[in-house]
Amino acid sequence: MALDSKVPKGPIKDKWTTYKDKIDLVNPANKRHIDVIVVGTGLAGGSAAATLAELGYNVKAFAYQDSPRRAHSIAAQGGINAAKNYMGDGDSNYRLFYDTVKGGDYRSREANVYRLAEVSGNIIDQCVAQGVPFARDYGGLLDNRSFGGVLVSRTFYAKGQTGQQLLLGAYSAMNRQIARGKIEMFNRHEMLDVVKVDGKARGIIARDLITGEIERHSAHAVVIATGGYGNVYFLSTNAMGSNATAAWKIHKKGAYFANPCFTQIHPTCIPRSGDYQSKLTLMSESLRNDGRIWVPAKIEDAKAIQEGKLKPTQIAEEDRDYYLERRYPAFGNLVPRDVASRAAKERCDAGFGVNATGEAVYLDFAAAFERYGKEQAKIKGLNSPSNEEIIKLGQGIIEEKYGNLFQMYEKIIAENPYETPMMIYPATHYTMGGVWVDYNLMTTVPGLYCIGEANFSDHGANRLGASALMQGLADGYFVLPYTIGDYLSDDIRTGKISTDSKEFDEVEKEVKDRIKFFINNKGTKSVDHFHKRLGKVMWDKVGMSRNEKDLKEAMAEIKAIREEFWKEVKVPGTANQMNPELEKAGRVADFLELGELFAKDALVRNESCGGHFREESVELDGEQKGEAKRNDTDFAFVSAWEHKGEPSDAILHKEELEFKDIELKQRSYK
Ligand SMILES: Cc1cc2nc3c(=O)[nH]c(=O)nc-3n(C[C@H](O)[C@H](O)[C@H](O)COP(=O)(O)OP(=O)(O)OC[C@H]3O[C@@H](n4cnc5c(N)ncnc54)[C@H](O)[C@@H]3O)c2cc1C
Repeated sequence: MALDSKVPKGPIKDKWTTYKDKIDLVNPANKRHIDVIVVGTGLAGGSAAATLAELGYNVKAFAYQDSPRRAHSIAAQGGINAAKNYMGDGDSNYRLFYDTVKGGDYRSREANVYRLAEVSGNIIDQCVAQGVPFARDYGGLLDNRSFGGVLVSRTFYAKGQTGQQLLLGAYSAMNRQIARGKIEMFNRHEMLDVVKVDGKARGIIARDLITGEIERHSAHAVVIATGGYGNVYFLSTNAMGSNATAAWKIHKKGAYFANPCFTQIHPTCIPRSGDYQSKLTLMSESLRNDGRIWVPAKIEDAKAIQEGKLKPTQIAEEDRDYYLERRYPAFGNLVPRDVASRAAKERCDAGFGVNATGEAVYLDFAAAFERYGKEQAKIKGLNSPSNEEIIKLGQGIIEEKYGNLFQMYEKIIAENPYETPMMIYPATHYTMGGVWVDYNLMTTVPGLYCIGEANFSDHGANRLGASALMQGLADGYFVLPYTIGDYLSDDIRTGKISTDSKEFDEVEKEVKDRIKFFINNKGTKSVDHFHKRLGKVMWDKVGMSRNEKDLKEAMAEIKAIREEFWKEVKVPGTANQMNPELEKAGRVADFLELGELFAKDALVRNESCGGHFREESVELDGEQKGEAKRNDTDFAFVSAWEHKGEPSDAILHKEELEFKDIELKQRSYK
């Protein structure tokens, strides 16, 4: 099937407006006869469900947690971008669009990104109206801070808990509709497959996670908003339950999967402490506004630190290597995540890491304590304050900005980051790849939409900080509610979709057979055993740095793990009860397929772009020596994979990317 991105014609600045003016609408009386299923109620799904119900559609919403409030979106710390230009520092829709396309290393669709920038301001207005307590400055206006890869301050935030506050906003909007009966909420339900009737998505099969019952649900359209697949690495900053099952199942039923290898490894996470860890913790990127990243300049100092013989505070200023400031003077500590992560890896691989495993660098706030402290002393009119007084005042400001993050760090590492620099190391964080969607956010299956982190959309090969919340909420509040109407306008006479059909029978049987298999299999190894092995292959061979040999090995190794999984996996308990091991088994089975396609995609894309770094594609000389080398001649496309049985048999379709409003340039942050 040829890919049609359905990007409207006309100048980029008018596309969305003209498009909205011309699409078909469904009148309010007819909306009452149309059902929409929304799977996932994080920021993307929650905002979509609330808005669709507000418009008058009958919404059935599903989440595997016990409340929409527990979606992984709650973990988002640092903030959400919007081109409001409240700081008067030169921001505009165009600049946000430009930064996002450049930040994504020119691998995203221009028209979608421009629309994202256009609606970004509406999101802030919407959330403020809901009561989201964004940080305000002294005069009461909304405050902004800066995130990596940009030269303006456009990030709105609520301390280090932006996701939580935004989710409470979306959740209260949902609750209003739940109370009106316009949203039927199915908590603790997991979608296990999609049902197509006459080629269109018309329903899902879900499992009630408390009783184990398998249920059929029908609708005129299905929206997938189930988040990202970072847990394919086993260890990531994602919530433990984050998974790819819904996205993968729709892929197997005809939805193309785009750019699976585009994954973000975030530079500021708490380093891994050992082999028995089940998750990693993010330290928000906002910390790079005030923290300076360094390792010892001398290898002997690094060794002494690794052996516990030297403390970071004992290393003199001139013996420190602030390597980001050294290598990227223009952006310094605020280079984009992919660049910062690779630079940390480079220093640690060279032996300069600062913990026992050699896989950590410092994030140091000493200079910020002093800078803010001096300013505060002036504001407070203190004459010749002591150094201790200055530091204390400065620490107070840092605590106001990031107190909860510092507390979290201290709880995990048992060191006080006000007294000694934090240790950080890159970890898997976000997946730019995902289900392929057109301009309408529709997948290659008619009536099946995908929004939020689950789709591939706007971030190209690297997502800039604070852009995921923006995209999820843009999709849910401002894009999908329009575009889905255009599709549903054909369905006003369809009537209820019956679940009593051979299509539902067939898919339900597939789901039940798989559950039966897991429960009855006489294996000897736990689900986690396989998940960890998959994660190790992914991290070692499909991680921050990739090459042909490793990727080929990874594909073979993942296939072998998958085959062993199906023979040896052991799932205790029964199907008719709450059974977390059974839930995990299904999710890991899907990760074991997705992981192989991921490696295949990375193998085919023999260029370095954004988070995807191929060792074969590096600048060999000039100012950019050693940096990633993009290849626009051969790879300026979105790879959209069609399922054909085994992941290795998937067929590649290319959506060629056209850049009419931004000149393709080498991404330089020097
Ligand atoms: C620690 C951390 C901090 C972050 N901080 C920021 C930040 O400051 N700014 C920013 O822009 N981005 C940030 N991000 C990224 C951002 O939080 C996510 O990309 C975003 O919240 C994803 O939202 P979502 O609605 O797409 O998915 P999620 O919030 O992951 O929601 C997924 C939903 O799908 C449901 N679900 C999943 N599978 C199924 C299934 N099979 N059946 C039924 N329901 C299912 C879940 O129950 C849940 O309701 C951060 C990410 C992490 C990990």
